[in-house]
Amino acid sequence: MPSEPLFRAAAIEAGYGRVQVLWGAGVEVREHETVALLGANGAGKTTLLKVLCGLIPPWRGEIRFSGRDITFERTDKRVRAGIAYMSERGSFPGLSVEENIRIGGQFTPAAHLKRRMEELYGVFPAIAERRRGLAGSLSGGQRKMLAIAKALAGSPRLLLMDEPSAGLSPLFVNEVFEVLRRFRGEGLSFLIAEQNVRFLDLADRVYTLDGGRIGFEGTVGALHANDALRRAYFGLK
Ligand code: ATP
Repeated sequence: MPSEPLFRAAAIEAGYGRVQVLWGAGVEVREHETVALLGANGAGKTTLLKVLCGLIPPWRGEIRFSGRDITFERTDKRVRAGIAYMSERGSFPGLSVEENIRIGGQFTPAAHLKRRMEELYGVFPAIAERRRGLAGSLSGGQRKMLAIAKALAGSPRLLLMDEPSAGLSPLFVNEVFEVLRRFRGEGLSFLIAEQNVRFLDLADRVYTLDGGRIGFEGTVGALHANDALRRAYFGLK
């Protein structure tokens, strides 16, 4: 029997008040795997990620991480267990760059966090230069880098990312892409919700989310081979 994946969410139903947004969505991420979650605006990507990291309780369904049922576990416990979440905004503008990164690493022992921060400052030199400055004073691209550094500060095993490319110029999209590729190479697992198909180049597998339901699940090659999906997501004939 194949072993249980690192992360597995099944038959997730959730919403706001009486409005149902997710209708039985499920995703899996294996160890060292990068998985893309594609979907248009309003498809439910953010809602699903928030359920997966514990910010919204699901109405139904199950979530497992590293062999444990975490369906109703608090977000801070999930973070301690190795799940990090990067929201679209991703950092606190009124705090300094370094304070933001420390928040990301708040459950990490001090000596370990110090080493990790030096490592992250090496990967993000523009952030390192501004470490005493307010996060709110950074450019959009730098804010995104800070959000990534903050999410990585606790040395997670799985990073859930909400649209890392949102609001970025192509130059910064490229920079984000390269940074993610680097950490992917170090064995980190990713679930990346995106509209930008550029990120498919990083993905081992893809899900499409449509109206709160998973439509397609498979490899990037299989997505390309499907005419209707290719037209919907790549705009190609
Ligand atoms: P986007 O790319 O625009 O963020 P998304 O795929 O992430 O889209 P969600 O943000 O999860 O989609 O939104 C899914 C649906 O849930 C939308 O119809 C949205 O209007 C609704 N929704 C989102 N947040 C709330 C909320 N706090 N209260 C009520 N409805 C909400």
